[in-house]
Amino acid sequence: MLLTSTYLWIDDTLSIPLESITELTTTKRGGSIQFWDAIAGVDMEFHFTLPGFLRPRMGVVSDFLREIAQQRERQSGPLAPNRHTSAPSPLSQIDSCEECGSNGTDAYTFSTFRFIGIAPVAYSYQLTPQRFVLCREHARDRAHRVNVRNALFGYLGFPGFLAAPWYIVRNLRELRGHNLLTVDLILKSVLLTVILPLGCVAFLLFLFARWAATV
Ligand SMILES: [Zn+2]
Repeated sequence: MLLTSTYLWIDDTLSIPLESITELTTTKRGGSIQFWDAIAGVDMEFHFTLPGFLRPRMGVVSDFLREIAQQRERQSGPLAPNRHTSAPSPLSQIDSCEECGSNGTDAYTFSTFRFIGIAPVAYSYQLTPQRFVLCREHARDRAHRVNVRNALFGYLGFPGFLAAPWYIVRNLRELRGHNLLTVDLILKSVLLTVILPLGCVAFLLFLFARWAATV
């Protein structure tokens, strides 16, 4: 995470322009940034918690967030949830598939979920609902790709591994709402949500047992 005073880069694909921030909160251990994603047309929240050894520096983070709030207010008025008065997403005016350009499209919202750490000690998570305009074939394809990402990055901690399957199922429900859910996709998702994480846990237990046997 790289934070500057004009753009907040959460990771290499997500930055938050100052004027889109609607709320900043700090707690003893971390904070959250709420903002309006004008491209996807959704409200977003980013939460973070500092690990224990950095907590004595929490004052620096609070000062920094306060400074951002002041700059944001100077630039575009007081922090307030003006999100729903924002212009509609440009995506809503596009009616060809983002991937192949064909007609016969629909709008879909798929959620990316990432989690790392152990709550409430030290953790960070990101929930990104994104709106896509896609043809039927690419909607299935995109849902699967988002779910693979959720399976890889959503299970890395507690309670992430409990929440990740829910977001995977939610993406499938979005497909079902458009009558696009196939047996093939359901089977792949069972593999992602159940077998892959259980396999990882079994592998870690196996490594732990081998390590314990040598001690
Ligand atoms: Zn397409």
